[in-house]
Amino acid sequence: FTPRTEEEPSPNDNDHYSSNIPYSEVCEVFNKIEAISSRLEIIRICSDFFIKIMQQSSKNLIPTTYLFINRLGPDYEAGLELGLGENLLMKTISESCGKSMSQIKLKYKEIGDLGEIAMGARNVQPTMFKPKPLTVGEVFKNLRTIAKTQGKDSQLKKMRQIKRMLTACQGVEAKFLIRSLESKLRIGLAEKTILISLSKALLLHDQSRENSRDKDIPMDVLETAQQKIRDAFCQVPNYEIVINSCLKHGIMNLDKYCTLRPGIPLKPMLAKPTKAINEVLDRFQGETFTSEYKYDGERAQVHLLNDGTMRIYSRNGENMTERYPEIKITDFIEDLDATKNLILDCEAVAWDKEQGKILPFQVLSTRKRKDVELTDVKVKVCLFAFDILCHNDERLINQSLRERRDYLAKVTKVVPGEFEYATQIITNNLDELQKFLDDSVNHSCEGLMVKMLEGPESHYEPSKRSRNWLKLKKDYLDGVGDSLDLCVLGAYYGRGKRTGTYGGFLLGCYNQDTGEFETCCKIGTGFSDEMLQQLHERLTPTIIDGPKATFVFDSSAEPDVWFEPTTLFEVLTADLSLSPIYKAGSATFDKGVSLRFPRFLRIREDKGVEDATSSDQIVELYENQSHVQN
Ligand code: ATP
Repeated sequence: FTPRTEEEPSPNDNDHYSSNIPYSEVCEVFNKIEAISSRLEIIRICSDFFIKIMQQSSKNLIPTTYLFINRLGPDYEAGLELGLGENLLMKTISESCGKSMSQIKLKYKEIGDLGEIAMGARNVQPTMFKPKPLTVGEVFKNLRTIAKTQGKDSQLKKMRQIKRMLTACQGVEAKFLIRSLESKLRIGLAEKTILISLSKALLLHDQSRENSRDKDIPMDVLETAQQKIRDAFCQVPNYEIVINSCLKHGIMNLDKYCTLRPGIPLKPMLAKPTKAINEVLDRFQGETFTSEYKYDGERAQVHLLNDGTMRIYSRNGENMTERYPEIKITDFIEDLDATKNLILDCEAVAWDKEQGKILPFQVLSTRKRKDVELTDVKVKVCLFAFDILCHNDERLINQSLRERRDYLAKVTKVVPGEFEYATQIITNNLDELQKFLDDSVNHSCEGLMVKMLEGPESHYEPSKRSRNWLKLKKDYLDGVGDSLDLCVLGAYYGRGKRTGTYGGFLLGCYNQDTGEFETCCKIGTGFSDEMLQQLHERLTPTIIDGPKATFVFDSSAEPDVWFEPTTLFEVLTADLSLSPIYKAGSATFDKGVSLRFPRFLRIREDKGVEDATSSDQIVELYENQSHVQN
């Protein structure tokens, strides 16, 4: 039994989502934001609105924030995908707004936005009685109920619920209700912007509680508050807990009360790429560092809860426990009486039991992702642990890596082929490191992870791509040091042998500040015929009528078809150069950064589109190239 802190939601209690704020007010704010592009102005509008609703009741903030970020709960909570097909929504709009299906389809072809269509249809519909206005709490709870409706007649039940809301919609409400149901708000509101707005509002809320009259928050205080809320969210990626904790203890005390805990996947620490051992040695000069094999599998954050249950979370915080029925963490714990709960950071790797060796990533990816029965398991996995983050509610992330390693060895035990520690070496000798790198590759690893071992810089930094962890991937040493994960934004029709499929794709990185996708290359190399066929089948249903407002591109690189951003390609590049045609990082340079000779490696199934390589990362990779530095 894990005691719940006061900030934590109880799963069956919908009461904390109550809010009487009229839904129309939220929609008016969305409408305003849709029409402007200045981020500062958007932050002002959002934080003013958050302050206003908190003045009525601070409870309003949670469902409202979820509507703003267009999500129904934390990412790790299962069963919150709305999964409503276009057809179902068209049918619902048609039936509740008195338009025929063919009228709706025709209009959709014309304007490509079901939200606008629903609003148009709803607003010309005669109504006998003025419907009861929708509230934020009601809409949010209904959206959650729709997502959770399953089984027999679920489509019908979902339609009924949507119709009830649509009939109550007025003004711009139908537009945003339908877009929320499609899980795409399309107003250019990045999550980072919402976090900043929230911190501003919560800070002012704290001050008003203290009767402070100072309405102008000094910049440094605001920045500290932003940092605190970001840090808390990286350890506890749950808006409800973070907001409640702010309301209870004050935003400036978040670091004391809102910290990682077993049962909630924290955002993992990430590494920066490097291109040579020398670069690593330069970075860690005079420091004690350790090098570990970089295993080629899937990140597995393993949690043991007080009630003895185990959960394994993916790099993105998805609960993947069902994927690994053969793993029992309790088998790997030294003293079960002394360990009530813990969090480990590991890599799950395919393992050849007979030969006692690691198998390549491709073998792991043949395993089913969900509902795996023990009898289905043909390819076993071995966990390679490289960190421990929490033990018996004690947070270990602010201990040095050396201390955490000792801790790990104290509370867990190796079971060969099932649970092992990452192979490591402590040396600053170039030849030894070169040999260790070669060994790692001979053991089916990708290369090395080189980490600061002692001092504050060796603390575990949730979510951060840190220079205290460097990755050295053997295959990419000739390029920019790493592969890139880019979002597919459009495609060009294939010619010759590729007729009937797409022959090339337009790719973009993700700008985390603006929420935009910035184009950075066309790619046509590295695809097998089967892959092209598969991509054609996968992407064609995601075609949209034109580029989205969040696509930043040059007309000279316009593709034949545009896609809804859904898929990431992992891509290799010879190097990066500046180009007038592409837009990646164009806020930094006049031109954009583009990939030279990009080659497709694989689809990244384990990352969402917002986890694409960021514009900042591309700029950094570009600037780190020796010819640019010189
Ligand atoms: P990124 O966003 O950094 O590109 P990625 O998912 O593409 O992330 P890589 O860049 O290949 O991953 O490298 C980081 C990943 O390497 C970690 O997320 C982890 O899954 C894996 N890994 C393997 N061995 C180790 C290790 N010894 N220490 C830390 N991470 C390791």
